[in-house]
Amino acid sequence: MSKIILTGDRPTGRLHLGHYVGSLKRRVALQNSGEYEKVLIMIADAQALTDNFDNPEKIRQNILEVALDYLSVGLDPSLSTLFIQSQIPELTELTFYYLNLVSVSRLQRNPTVKSEIQLRNFEASIPTGFLCYPVSQAADITAFKATTVPVGEDQLPMLEQTREIVRKFNSIYQETLVEPEALLPENSVCCRLPGTDGKAKMSKSLGNCIYLADSPECVHQKIMSMYTDPQHLKVSDPGHVEGNAVFTYLDAFCEARHFAEFLPDYANLDELKAHYERGGLGDVKIKKFLEAILQQELEPIRARRKEYEQNIDAVYDILKAGCGKARAIAQQTLDEVKAAMKINYFEDDSFLQAYKEKYQN
Ligand code: ATP
Ligand code: MG
Repeated sequence: MSKIILTGDRPTGRLHLGHYVGSLKRRVALQNSGEYEKVLIMIADAQALTDNFDNPEKIRQNILEVALDYLSVGLDPSLSTLFIQSQIPELTELTFYYLNLVSVSRLQRNPTVKSEIQLRNFEASIPTGFLCYPVSQAADITAFKATTVPVGEDQLPMLEQTREIVRKFNSIYQETLVEPEALLPENSVCCRLPGTDGKAKMSKSLGNCIYLADSPECVHQKIMSMYTDPQHLKVSDPGHVEGNAVFTYLDAFCEARHFAEFLPDYANLDELKAHYERGGLGDVKIKKFLEAILQQELEPIRARRKEYEQNIDAVYDILKAGCGKARAIAQQTLDEVKAAMKINYFEDDSFLQAYKEKYQN
């Protein structure tokens, strides 16, 4: 079976380092590996509207921002199809049929949705669309017969929900849909990168992000005010590495070559951590090291973004062409789904023929 990738992001803001290590970097590597027949990358505006329905302008203003971030990290429109969810009406149609296959209590049990409901103070009154967005995600994934979905850890419950829908659909109707697999980052700290404030997840909604498009000065300021170890007051104090966001970022980004280039007094991260735990290593020194690594990683991304910002017409055209391509694939799957569900009345004459036999004999 050919391998197909589908993944995406909500246009609720620009993309950040959490997206980068959790999914974007991997997508680019997979795109370039040549092992996938299709790579589809979706800007999930319809999903973003499920909790931003009263602020459509916010979504509209972030569509091209997300597209610029995609292109700047190296997603290549000649290898990957970049498209916008709302422009593929087949996805909404699939969602409607899949809703029959999922119970309300099953949706309420989804741990990611549960914590997002809490975060948004939706407990008293949950918008139905928001509760059901995992079903719409199942439509997104299955419409393209995706086999592989590179995502962060928060998306695992969505993948499980999709797999359940696929199994149920295939067993009730006819073998039509493909069961996808999540592809988590190889490095476990990248599954859920914490915020600069030390909170469990860097997230647009929590305002604790370093954005890919942040200027070097802005990145400098954010790193210098990062959460470390509140008990590490003097340089001589022993420090904690666990729960210390600077060390978590080093776990995510630091490679052996960075020591030779930026911090030759240490051979590797273990030595640096041991010194911090012993005491005698200040926060400023580790923050400066992290900054050198991140600025180097972000520099080519910023440069590519600048080029595309100067050529915004091209970005618009890339999305428009991507929507056309994606729609053709989704249409094909929807036709198969409708045939499996026996609602393809006008596809051939078998529907009419059955009635004729009933009434003309
Ligand atoms: P929002 O707050 O609007 O939900 P978000 O920052 O959570 O935004 P999404 O668009 O929901 O971003 O997530 C897009 C992709 O990025 C998903 O695959 C998700 O797993 C991954 N991702 C998001 N934040 C992180 C993070 N901090 N660490 C690792 N992966 C992440
Ligand atoms: Mg999210």
